[in-house]
Amino acid sequence: MALRYPVDNVKISQGFGSDPSFYKQYGQLGHNGLDIAVPAGTPVYAADDGVVQFEGWGQNSSWMGSIAGICAIIKHRGCQTGYAHLASTVVSKGQTVSKGQVIGYSGATGVVSGPHLHFEVFPLNPNFNNGFAGRIDPMPYINTSKTATADQIKQAYRDILERDADAGGLKHYQAYTIEFVRQDLARSQEKRALDAAKAEAVRVAAERAQEEAARKAEEAKKAADAKKALEAAEKAAREQAAAEAELARIAEEERIARERAEAKAREQAEIAQEAKEVHMATTAEQIKEIGATAQKVLDSNDFTPPISDKTKTIAYFATDIAIIVSSLVFTILAILAYVDAVVAITINTAIGTAMLGIKQTFRLSSKKQ
Ligand SMILES: [Zn+2]
Repeated sequence: MALRYPVDNVKISQGFGSDPSFYKQYGQLGHNGLDIAVPAGTPVYAADDGVVQFEGWGQNSSWMGSIAGICAIIKHRGCQTGYAHLASTVVSKGQTVSKGQVIGYSGATGVVSGPHLHFEVFPLNPNFNNGFAGRIDPMPYINTSKTATADQIKQAYRDILERDADAGGLKHYQAYTIEFVRQDLARSQEKRALDAAKAEAVRVAAERAQEEAARKAEEAKKAADAKKALEAAEKAAREQAAAEAELARIAEEERIARERAEAKAREQAEIAQEAKEVHMATTAEQIKEIGATAQKVLDSNDFTPPISDKTKTIAYFATDIAIIVSSLVFTILAILAYVDAVVAITINTAIGTAMLGIKQTFRLSSKKQ
């Protein structure tokens, strides 16, 4: 198995295993590949026939890491080769490539101090604890006859300048700095996809939190509304019950007052009726009695007024008037309930008797004459 150099004009700036003190920080015994000084944009070739195992940003390969920048790994019959710090690749994973086929262009992506190609070799089954992260020295596998001269390297620069004149030539490629790599990485599809996924996750989480908060607020509002409605209903029911009780109380009071008024009216009517009946009976009897007495007096043979006829007539007339007036007055008073009916009757009877007594006196005195 013989590999070819991955570029046409080779100037090795750093060999395998060099600078152990620097690589100690990476846990390695020294540089784990060949650094070939080439201007950015130099075509990079497959070192042998093989199949592309990986191409793209190194952080997406556990064998490479972000330090490698844009890189590629090709599997050959006896080993595997790696190409790092590329500006771009022109092959795809799984693609079969032949020795010397352009697989990409050199650049300064990843951790570099300037544009160069980092070329490395892995066995088919790398021992990643070999002190060089599984890499082995490429030199024993490479035909070293094609090392570049200084003139050849200058020519390579001129070729690239001419080829890429429209794109800014060398000036354009000098812009391949760490910052460029950072920006390129920031613009990379993987980064964009990752950022988009993160932003989406944040947005979804925020949306869910908002929905949850809105749902909880709605539930709380519903509960509060229900409580308020219940309280209002209870208050309305209490007020209704109180109003009904008040109405019932007023109705009862009215009923009692009405009954009392009716009872009072009935009582007064009964008293009046009774008084009227008693009075009428009494008056009829008195009149009858008076009439009988008067008749008796008139019928008696010895009726001779003891005093002058004129005086006698006036006296008799006065006693009759007194009886009638008193009888009328007390009857009216009794009807109007100013005086008890029995009292009125008693008084009437007394007055009637007194008057009859007076008349009798007149009669007796007239008899003596
Ligand atoms: Zn290197």
